[in-house]
Amino acid sequence: MPNIALLPGDGIGPEVATAAIEVLNAVATDLTYDEHKVGGAGIDEYGVAMTDDTMAACKASDAVLLGAVGGPKWDTNETGAVRAEDALFGLRAGLGLYANLRPIRPLPALYDASPLKRELIENVDMLIVRELTGGLYYGERGTKDGRAYDTLVYTVEEIERIVRAGFRAAKSRVTSVDKANVLDTSRLWRDVATRIHAEEFPTIELEHELVDAAAMKLISAPRHFEVIVTENMFGDILSDEASMLTGSLGMLPTASLGGDGPSMFEPVHGSAPDITGQGIANPIGMILSGALLLRHGLGREAEAAAVESAVDKALDKGIRSRDLGGTATTAEVTKAVLEEL
Ligand code: ATP
Ligand code: MG
Repeated sequence: MPNIALLPGDGIGPEVATAAIEVLNAVATDLTYDEHKVGGAGIDEYGVAMTDDTMAACKASDAVLLGAVGGPKWDTNETGAVRAEDALFGLRAGLGLYANLRPIRPLPALYDASPLKRELIENVDMLIVRELTGGLYYGERGTKDGRAYDTLVYTVEEIERIVRAGFRAAKSRVTSVDKANVLDTSRLWRDVATRIHAEEFPTIELEHELVDAAAMKLISAPRHFEVIVTENMFGDILSDEASMLTGSLGMLPTASLGGDGPSMFEPVHGSAPDITGQGIANPIGMILSGALLLRHGLGREAEAAAVESAVDKALDKGIRSRDLGGTATTAEVTKAVLEEL
């Protein structure tokens, strides 16, 4: 019986978590859930965003499902000693979650919500695999005498493991994105990707693309991509660019995968304090995070696909929360998805 560490967090986190659990229960009756307070809820209850006990429970779980953390109540904590977001950084580091997966799958019913033309985004189904714990964001940095620097470092091992994550997620093609015409880290990246491809994944096509060209192609020919694998900063930028192919922020799920331990799944959106407690949050990003948990956390592809297809059908039939221009409540959207299952 897989055990899920459930961390609803703050703001709309608990509201959308409830929705996701209802949907998960409909397709996987054997899952058990242990709920823990993290983020602002953790600070209120225990004085810290994430207790050692909660971290230990997450490490011992089969997968972690997180709502959202943070909010104005804790942002105003001027001591800086505890921050709601510490829960997130603690989890990423503590679980070694070096691979962030963001699927970009514009839903037919929402093609009109994208700023791009329908012909361009039709049938787009791509996955961005972003390295999450290395590169420019984690390198040595400093500012002195009117000069500032950041360093971009990758080891062979860090590149190997993220490239493998990309190949494992691919059916037929991986696009490795780098800037190998300029950067040494990118030349190493390209060499390692080429070797891992030849040694371990020869049946999958590997192509290399420079990040500037990839940024252009994401808009001009997004259907070209199946899996994009790239370093931390390029992935940060490209995944936000790609998110514009879909409709609302409330729609997008993400998975953060680690080495040997459990993985973590959460919606892309934050705690949305402006709509908290009104019962109107769009639960789809969280429900689709549950689908990613089934697929990548538990290896249950059929159940994951069933959830995704139920979301598609519910939207096809017209259900729309407020962020999508409709009036449906969180509970009504959840019910519509459950009816399709
Ligand atoms: P964070 O710093 O936690 O990432 P943020 O400031 O980026 O938060 P969000 O909390 O994601 O922002 O909210 C941004 C806007 O999107 C808000 O107006 C919020 O109400 C809206 N929003 C976010 N998620 C949802 C959702 N699931 N349903 C409806 N609206 C949402
Ligand atoms: Mg944000």
